[in-house]
Amino acid sequence: MTSSDAKAPLLSVRGLRKHFPVRKGVFSTVVGHVKAVDDVSFDVGEGETLGLVGESGCGKTTAGRSILRLIEPTAGEVTFAGETVYAPGVRPSSRDMRAMRRHMQIIFQDPYASLNPRMSVADIVGEGLKVHGLVSGRRELEDRVEELLVRVRLDPSYVNRYPHEFSGGQRQRIGIARALSLRPRFIVCDEAVSALDVSIQAQIINLLMDLADEFGLSYLFVAHDLSVVRHISHRVAVMYLGRIVEQASRDDLFGDPRHPYTKALLSAVPRADPTRKVERIVLQGDVPSPLRPPSGCAFHTRCPAVMDVCRHEFPPLREAGEGHTFRCHLEA
Ligand code: SF4
Repeated sequence: MTSSDAKAPLLSVRGLRKHFPVRKGVFSTVVGHVKAVDDVSFDVGEGETLGLVGESGCGKTTAGRSILRLIEPTAGEVTFAGETVYAPGVRPSSRDMRAMRRHMQIIFQDPYASLNPRMSVADIVGEGLKVHGLVSGRRELEDRVEELLVRVRLDPSYVNRYPHEFSGGQRQRIGIARALSLRPRFIVCDEAVSALDVSIQAQIINLLMDLADEFGLSYLFVAHDLSVVRHISHRVAVMYLGRIVEQASRDDLFGDPRHPYTKALLSAVPRADPTRKVERIVLQGDVPSPLRPPSGCAFHTRCPAVMDVCRHEFPPLREAGEGHTFRCHLEA
């Protein structure tokens, strides 16, 4: 899988915000906002995979869903293949949105919950084909679904079976076939392998990489596990409390991490070479509530390198090399 040289990114996200209002009392008065995603910007090139990582509750899933407008963003701009998906005051018509959605799909985390148990594989995988009027009649639908099952390495004779007849890994393959059915250019993989056994995770990741090569797909690969992200991503963005704190090529991020949070996450990743010892950085405490994020640098309550300035001043964005940025008071 090779990263694209294309100049204009396929997906461009600028200043994306998703703030959920917190309501209280009989009049549902808004008493605050949970800033689940706060000023997030990144690009995804044609044929490129961007890994989006962080602990649970950091906002990565909300960011992925906001890009597809499965959750309506609060602010920011999202463009896909030069078309506006979201911008203040710009509302693509439902027809334009439907056309864009054909090319922007999602694979969900839980292969058990994401498939309707009352629908056969033909109906689950073929639903989009029917909605977009791309098949006429049951026979053609089944033929197209069988083709997709072969692509995701499932036996095409399973076409009339139901989700409960499959293992977790097989169900995720069905979810991938559903996402592929409309020939998308971009897929959000939302913790797509997190619920699977480690051996099955590797199979699904290899499948996703093969499909990316075969169909020229771009992925936003959302995960909390850095070792999973390392395998599939060209670039990686690390999120903490709704913000991206470091973004770099995979090799730069894993070889020369700059943000103390990235360093802590990396220190917990198991290594293939046991002779290369890396001191484990254990973060104290839980991720603070996004309803009341800490002042200054939001990571200061857990950062092993915290300084006085970190407690009251928002850290600047620093450059550590081409395409390598991080947000911290520490020098590059
Ligand atoms: Fe740690 Fe300060 Fe950098 Fe935040 S700004 S990551 S608290 S050193």
